[in-house]
Amino acid sequence: MASATHVGGRSENEDAICVAEVPPVGVGEAATEGGHLLAVADGMGGYQRGEVAAKMAIDTLREMFAEDPGADPALLLKQAFRRANEKIYENGLGTGQDAMMGTTLVAVVTHGKYVTIASIGDSRAYLARANRLTQITKDHTIVAEQVARGSMTEQEARESPHRNVLTHALGHRPKVESKLPDIFEITLLPEDRLLLCSDGLYDVVPDDEMLRALTEGAPEDAAQRLVDLAVSRNASDNVSAIVLAALPTREKPAVLETAGTGRTSFLLPAIAAVILILILAAVFFFAL
Ligand code: CA
Repeated sequence: MASATHVGGRSENEDAICVAEVPPVGVGEAATEGGHLLAVADGMGGYQRGEVAAKMAIDTLREMFAEDPGADPALLLKQAFRRANEKIYENGLGTGQDAMMGTTLVAVVTHGKYVTIASIGDSRAYLARANRLTQITKDHTIVAEQVARGSMTEQEARESPHRNVLTHALGHRPKVESKLPDIFEITLLPEDRLLLCSDGLYDVVPDDEMLRALTEGAPEDAAQRLVDLAVSRNASDNVSAIVLAALPTREKPAVLETAGTGRTSFLLPAIAAVILILILAAVFFFAL
């Protein structure tokens, strides 16, 4: 587990992150393994209001998981997103320096290998598996909708000056739409790496370089490697990354190899035995 956040090219850091442990859920043999609550929030609004909104989202998540750690992760995530939205919206009802603010939020709960992801906005979760990088979350942006409709290519979306204009965020409306946040459930395989990040990272680091920084080298340095990479590319925005690495299993290579070599190792002695019997037979034959 590793995390890093950097002010990047801005004067304030309006990203906020959460890395916390969660206890097992359930009792007895039905209990899950303990795990983590991870989140990245990318706040927006003038006069440092983005910073306030991002922090509110993260604090609400932490509070709700501390209050009710045994609840179903997907349900608790949905409730936390709703409560965070209300708090941020109510706080942004004023005018002037208290004017509207908002934030993205991507949050992950893990219990052993079981992972639940919730997202609103354009902060992302990625999965690196078998040397491929997949974006798990959907961006709630105008350009992502255009790509989904086929009226814009992914490359055009990446280069659009409006690429960061959001269609959904926490704090912009009194209520979160009933279909939101998006919820994704995945099961980690050995050696998978899960990345949460703000747009400050993926705006300046292409996927192939992201995959390399994420997977090559020690997992505990991966978040810092990614943030350093974005900063070295003159990131104009705040940059945040959290990396969760699934443990390599002891059984995996052993099981695969046993399946492959099992027959061979059985076959070789058998062939050797047959040859030995033939030689012995020949020796006896000639001896007679
Ligand atoms: Ca940002």
